Amino acid sequence: MSRFLKERYQALEAYTPGEQPRDMEYIKLNTNESPYPPAPAVVAAMNSGEIERLRLYSDPTAKGLKEALAELYSLSAEQIFLSNGSDDILNFAFMAYGQKGAIFPDITYGFYPVFAQLHGVEYQEIPLEPNFSVNYKAYLNQNKLIVIANPNAPTGMSIGLDAIEEILKSNPDGVVVIDEAYVDFGGKSCYKLIDRYENLLVVRTFSKSRCLAGGRLGYAFANAALIADLEKIKYSTNPYNINRLTLLLGKETAKADAYYTEKCGEIIKTRETTAQALEEMGFEVLPSDANFLFARHPKISGEQLYSELKKRGILVRHFTKERIKDFNRITIGTPKEMQTMISKIKEILL
Ligand SMILES: *Cc1c(COP(=O)(O)O)cnc(C)c1O
Repeated sequence: MSRFLKERYQALEAYTPGEQPRDMEYIKLNTNESPYPPAPAVVAAMNSGEIERLRLYSDPTAKGLKEALAELYSLSAEQIFLSNGSDDILNFAFMAYGQKGAIFPDITYGFYPVFAQLHGVEYQEIPLEPNFSVNYKAYLNQNKLIVIANPNAPTGMSIGLDAIEEILKSNPDGVVVIDEAYVDFGGKSCYKLIDRYENLLVVRTFSKSRCLAGGRLGYAFANAALIADLEKIKYSTNPYNINRLTLLLGKETAKADAYYTEKCGEIIKTRETTAQALEEMGFEVLPSDANFLFARHPKISGEQLYSELKKRGILVRHFTKERIKDFNRITIGTPKEMQTMISKIKEILL
């Protein structure tokens, strides 16, 4: 750190992304990417002509992609915001709506407290229930910025739409962000509530279910007024924050929805067979609506399982937070990758 850094950033603890080691080929089950490639039409949309057009700026209004998403979700383009990954949108939300403070679960996406610190937002972390579900009643009548990942990460557990609606109703003076990064893997989306609740911001991503993590594309649904706030911040930060190639691929992705629904279905099936295999080996596996499982075993620490798997070429995600340090978060890969993982775990437990 230099002596020039503004004081308020000196104590900031940056987010630690999942490791992306380059020393060998791993089976990557640590950052919840899709094991499948994008749809054929998405791959075919990329060509040298598009690369040559990179000399031109991208469309800051992202018109084509917004229209494709509007059609897919029966919304109007004014209800849609797009940005460089959903992390970017979450960042904007803390920047825009954190004035009265923020609340979110103690065990959730690790970026929320970082954004809060970055923007000087006071925050409160609400403990998950003993069974690791979100205690939604603690979020009633707070009138602050409320941020809930649904399904939650790294647990994979969801709360129901009725709980979300109660939170929305009882917080008329606070924005409620529902982070639906994993909703396509079996959760229930609340996005249709945006017409009825002016305080609802639904944040989503192309990174997980749309096989485009490296493309960096996030989107949000809300009423036109909230979207206008986010646009104002975007135009005050980086108007061209989505590159041309990603805009193009995003549009093709929206049009190829059937392919992604099928792939999500395959991932859900693999998740269920993997959960069963882990349980047969003595793991406790939390119920998951996401493309990962959160599991612990009474005979081996989370840290040890993580490092033994890494030695064997398999990366999973281990968190050091006290309450979840016995767990590992395992991304669902292809059936073959999961079989390899299961047999390596058997070997480790022997
Ligand atoms: C992966 C993830 C994100 C970030 O997604 P990007 O669009 O790749 O920035 C946001 N929220 C949660 C809960 C996630 O797990």
